[in-house]
Amino acid sequence: MVGGGIAGLCAALAARRTGVSVRLLDNAPVAMRGGNARHARNFRVVHGEPTPYVPDSYHASEFLAELGSVTGGTADQTLAERMVSGSETLVPWLIENGVAMQPPSLGVVPYSRRTVFPLGGGKAMINALYRQAAALDIAISSNSEVRALRDVADGGWIVEMAGSAPGESVIEARAVIVCAGGPGADAAWLRAHYGKSADGLMLRGTPYADGRMLDHLIGLGGCAVGEPTVCHMVAVDARGPRFDGGIVTRITAIPCGMVVDRFGARIDAIGAGQEPTHYARWGPRIAACDDQMAYLILDADGLQRAAPQAFAPIEAETIAALAAALDFEPAKLAAAVASFNATQPTGARPLIRAPFAAYPMRAGITFVHHGVAVDERLRVRWADGRANATLYAAGMIMAANVLRRGYLAGLGITLSAVFGRLAGEEAAHHVAR
Ligand SMILES: Cc1cc2nc3c(=O)[nH]c(=O)nc-3n(C[C@H](O)[C@H](O)[C@H](O)COP(=O)(O)OP(=O)(O)OC[C@H]3O[C@@H](n4cnc5c(N)ncnc54)[C@H](O)[C@@H]3O)c2cc1C
Repeated sequence: MVGGGIAGLCAALAARRTGVSVRLLDNAPVAMRGGNARHARNFRVVHGEPTPYVPDSYHASEFLAELGSVTGGTADQTLAERMVSGSETLVPWLIENGVAMQPPSLGVVPYSRRTVFPLGGGKAMINALYRQAAALDIAISSNSEVRALRDVADGGWIVEMAGSAPGESVIEARAVIVCAGGPGADAAWLRAHYGKSADGLMLRGTPYADGRMLDHLIGLGGCAVGEPTVCHMVAVDARGPRFDGGIVTRITAIPCGMVVDRFGARIDAIGAGQEPTHYARWGPRIAACDDQMAYLILDADGLQRAAPQAFAPIEAETIAALAAALDFEPAKLAAAVASFNATQPTGARPLIRAPFAAYPMRAGITFVHHGVAVDERLRVRWADGRANATLYAAGMIMAANVLRRGYLAGLGITLSAVFGRLAGEEAAHHVAR
């Protein structure tokens, strides 16, 4: 397995349970192992009746219809159906592999009939899966970057590691499953696809999913799928770290106030209203702003309604003082506030009561809708339509087969875990044969 995120772990465990020997190589240090699942809260599962971990029911037909609606019908239907049906047994399978789930009856997670919350969040889930992998004698190597794969004449691969001299530290594998995540964490890759604006973007997840393995697979002849310039972005606090800010830097209070650009001019809210996922609609709008910067402006009333954020707001007693603190022309911000108060978007309230406050915002990329094509057995598809029975891909590196655009809450973990598990089983059966 190349990559030790949720896809790589599920692939490793599923393969190992069939009896084959498994080695998992991850380029991150131990403290950062687990990829983006460290940040995840919940994942989407089909179930016909209430279970101790998810109330009511959520049918495969609903999941497929919702997926069809957000992707505009662009998903590979066979893979979408495999993912949706695989989600039905995901919870018991993860529990069998040591993951604990949060019972909603305890009342500490929001009501959701579509998603399950691992107890302790994604980090606890990842730690449990690593413990299980060690217990099953899966060889795990952190700080181990795979640089290249070379196929060998009688089937299988030579896996070349970074930093190794020619002929040294190469691993021979009967089959390889690449679970190295999507692209995005590589500044040069971002600049190549997003131009100068790339420097103003933030990446919400691991800096270790740099897309080099994806480029390598495409270089070997793998068929590309999706679009490198289409990504899921959300509004994040500009004061957060450039990488790996996770979910806590997300700005969730936009419906409580007004957004302005870096000069203090109002940005209207068309198409980005009051719905709970409004921050995902704001991501691309902020990315399109000058310097990829915008500010959320609140008054005392908005501050009171807003959920706590990771960073304290910049506060001032008057709009003029706030403008000075943000380096805006005072008249410009005053005009923006006056126009907002005169023509408020539905559900918003006027900005009138001191103190006034601001959150600086940037766009944070969650994932890119670009990857390598796979067939229905998760085998990498070559540009000429063939598939190689010894080379598989699972997780975000192939998500664009199903998710060329759009997103549904809790889909990332479900997709990566289900396809990881399936790829592990497929590859192991091939090796055993
Ligand atoms: C902030 C944030 C919050 C999220 N919240 C949720 C949520 O609540 N629910 C949900 O369903 N989804 C969520 N997601 C999405 C979800 O986390 C991902 O879809 C999922 O974790 C992807 O798993 P993966 O294993 O495919 O890839 P990744 O998590 O990207 O893992 C890839 C792994 O491969 C390693 N790697 C990369 N290149 C190499 C190489 N050359 N050699 C060796 N190793 C390599 C990386 O270090 C990493 O460990 C969230 C994502 C982010 C960023």
